[in-house]
Amino acid sequence: MTEFTESERQLLEPFFTNLDRPIFALRNLPEVLKGALFSRYSRTEKSLRRVLLEEFITAPEVGFFQAAPQNPGLTAQSKAEAFYDRVLIGYGDDSVAELGGAHLACEEISNIAAKILEDSRLGLSPLEKSTRYVPFNKKVNGRYRYYREPAIMASKHSAEYEATLDHLFDTYTNLFDPLLAQVQSETPQDNQTSDRAYVSATRAKTFDLLRGLLPMATLTNVGFFGNGRAFEYLLVKLAASVHAEVNEIGQGIQQELDIVIPSFVKRAKSDRGQQYAQYLANNARNSQQLAHKFLADQFTASTELVTLVEFDPDAESQVVTAILYPHSQLSQAEIRQVVDRLTPIELQEIINTYAGDRQSRFHRPGRAFEETYYTFDILADLGAYRDLHRHRVLTQERQTYTVDHGFEVPEEVIASGMAPAYQAALERAASTMKSIEQDLPAAAQYVVPFAFRTRWRIKLNLREAYHFIELRSAAQGHPGYRSIAQAMYQKILEVHPTLAANMSFVDLAEYRLERLSSEQKLDLKIQSKFSM
Ligand SMILES: Cc1cc2nc3c(=O)[nH]c(=O)nc-3n(C[C@H](O)[C@H](O)[C@H](O)COP(=O)(O)OP(=O)(O)OC[C@H]3O[C@@H](n4cnc5c(N)ncnc54)[C@H](O)[C@@H]3O)c2cc1C
Repeated sequence: MTEFTESERQLLEPFFTNLDRPIFALRNLPEVLKGALFSRYSRTEKSLRRVLLEEFITAPEVGFFQAAPQNPGLTAQSKAEAFYDRVLIGYGDDSVAELGGAHLACEEISNIAAKILEDSRLGLSPLEKSTRYVPFNKKVNGRYRYYREPAIMASKHSAEYEATLDHLFDTYTNLFDPLLAQVQSETPQDNQTSDRAYVSATRAKTFDLLRGLLPMATLTNVGFFGNGRAFEYLLVKLAASVHAEVNEIGQGIQQELDIVIPSFVKRAKSDRGQQYAQYLANNARNSQQLAHKFLADQFTASTELVTLVEFDPDAESQVVTAILYPHSQLSQAEIRQVVDRLTPIELQEIINTYAGDRQSRFHRPGRAFEETYYTFDILADLGAYRDLHRHRVLTQERQTYTVDHGFEVPEEVIASGMAPAYQAALERAASTMKSIEQDLPAAAQYVVPFAFRTRWRIKLNLREAYHFIELRSAAQGHPGYRSIAQAMYQKILEVHPTLAANMSFVDLAEYRLERLSSEQKLDLKIQSKFSM
């Protein structure tokens, strides 16, 4: 039995995937209108399709089809926007701004800016141009594509900045062919590997080896899908940044989102948004001053790649309590008393049963594994940081990009005899960075190449550790972050062997051509597609 008459069906059809079933998707409607429709659920007993029909399509004051017959619903946007003004700005019900979203492209932005944009967690999904598959040495109008930071370009350092960055990109360009030849001679093609797979895998390896030369000023492209609420917070954070480029990107994003989801991002540029940005900027500046006051005389002696700074010795019992909790009517404290009387064998049995028969790393244990946390301090090259930074569920915080911790030269580059050129470009970058840093400390970070070590901390729970370590130790990963994931695994295993026991898909092996097996699998997929 359908809820709608034939004429109503005709009006509604373009906007829903079906009109008869209780599960349906919305289409061909502006984001703000879809959001406004959803938020009516909390205030009406009508079905959503009927709300659209009665409160928008046939409501004479809305003029649903009038102003934009080619784009029905567009005129209803103003009604939906008025609704948002009332609920968001009037009542401050922020969650309604999660009901609509936008796809946003940010092109030709520096890696400094890309990392700040990708600091976002809940509500934003980024995808960035890869340093593994795309060459970064293309020139436009005879110039390499890196950000010419305005304060540096207006300073006495401008010529040295450009000369140093050009030198890095020239080195990247000049080393590519000889290094690719070296990689191919070290890992010759066998008869199981197609030309396509071999060329892809060896090129990816060469790009991986050379990425250390790319400075943080390197321009990249990032796309985001996100909801309105996440974009509003992002805009506030961008306005609070110390980097002029990032402030400018924020203004550019505001301008474009004002076109597609204006209601959701209106508050970012209001007094409220500006005050919030000021609050964030003040706190960052004041904390930095205190850090300088209390830490200025200290120096770092620690060079360990991965340090497990904090873990909970009581983790096992907490996790087992959480595993049993949903299957009981006892309080958490009462269950804990029972758990405290269990034998080690019984505890392990419960943990193993909960983790279950994992057939692949995609079989992830559940929320009880979120009960315990680990804090790691990492000192690794910026290239690895850029990759691992993308895990949004963890708490990650970096220090400023520096040349003070030295750089990494990949073993393969040393073995190829090309290390002197590689090192010379990095050493020049270090010296330029130090000299700019005297006058423009924040902007000087644009010079730092990915080969330099940076320090950051990661706090993550056991559940995310399973995902993160198994994914990032996988054969196709970059060796820079594979070794971090492997070390994190060893450290968790040392302190919590029972909890790490089911991390069955950690890959501790070393590979010479990381992408090869993935490319071979891709060949099989291509073959099976064409043989169908
Ligand atoms: C081999 C390899 C190559 C890669 N190449 C590229 C590349 O070329 N370009 C690029 O941009 N990135 C690349 N990445 C990064 C990748 O796209 C992910 O951003 C990164 O691996 C983080 O993974 P995650 O989202 O699973 O992890 P987390 O952000 O830590 O999230 C953990 C889990 O939580 C859930 N989750 C978190 N946030 C959301 C959300 N918003 N919506 C739904 N579920 C969510 C998912 O189940 C997710 O697996 C690459 C990663 C690998 C391992």
